[in-house]
Amino acid sequence: MSKLVIVGTVAFDAIETPFGKTDKILGGAATFIGLSASQFNVDSAIVSVVGGDFPQEYLDLLSEKNIDISGIEIIKDGKTFFWSGRYHNDMNSRDTLATELNVLADFNPVVPQDYKDAEIVMLGNLHPIVQSSVLDQMTKKPKLAILDTMNFWMDSALEDLHNVIKRVDVITINDEEARQLTGEYSLVVAARKIHEMGPKYVVIKKGEHGALLFHNDSVFYAPALPLEEVFDPTGAGDTFAGGFAGYLAKTGDVSFENMKNAVIYGSTLASFCVEKFGTERMKNLPKKEVHQRLQQFKDLTQFDIELT
Ligand code: AMP
Repeated sequence: MSKLVIVGTVAFDAIETPFGKTDKILGGAATFIGLSASQFNVDSAIVSVVGGDFPQEYLDLLSEKNIDISGIEIIKDGKTFFWSGRYHNDMNSRDTLATELNVLADFNPVVPQDYKDAEIVMLGNLHPIVQSSVLDQMTKKPKLAILDTMNFWMDSALEDLHNVIKRVDVITINDEEARQLTGEYSLVVAARKIHEMGPKYVVIKKGEHGALLFHNDSVFYAPALPLEEVFDPTGAGDTFAGGFAGYLAKTGDVSFENMKNAVIYGSTLASFCVEKFGTERMKNLPKKEVHQRLQQFKDLTQFDIELT
């Protein structure tokens, strides 16, 4: 089993979907990643920052999942990062209504001593300079560094983003962001261009249409499970990344073949995340249900064809 260090936002989110609206609830990229990776009982730590307004019960929730939170700095007189978004009727696209960086604006991440030698580093969505700083603090080169990002950072810190992309092995990015980053419409061409920027593995997330894993000239595709109800897609991408990283940390095998299973685990966990608002579904997700859904995934994708 490998150690997993996660950096990303721990946040308040306010979400509007066609099915309803929330006040400020628990959110943030690192929160979703951590909850998802906790399914694998790996040694994990979150590196982040919150304000004095962040409820202790949210921190307790992460601790109860055996996530080391000593790397979550609390700025007593500061305000927690806040994001608000509204989903369109298709539930695949959304408008960001507010991004208030607050304490994130001058955040200097500190990786806990015990995690400076972590084999797997998951750089969740956050300022690319903060992501780089986490890599700088590792005392030995991680077996695998995975990076997730979004259009916000492409718009506001593109050069810094390119600098950190160069340093990672895997990037997970959604389709529209892959197009924005490369200026290419074809996702195959976009993946090739991203390879050229550094990462040997490129995962392109396509929301309800699944995810593609590219490595050199090979490509693997995992569909998303067709769900009857999608309530709130917030955090699905991070939950995917958490499942992907958690599975690789648990197995310690970072080969392309094993990454295929990691993509399936990521997709399975993401399919739960969207069923309720925010982190609600991920807070208590029995392993048995995850296994049942993995079986559904197998049934959905397996076929036996005779080549005539
Ligand atoms: P996802 O739906 O997977 O893209 O992730 C949504 C989560 O990302 C929310 O919980 C937000 O708090 C967080 N988030 C939104 N915008 C940003 C940003 N610019 N940087 C870091 N995290 C963000």
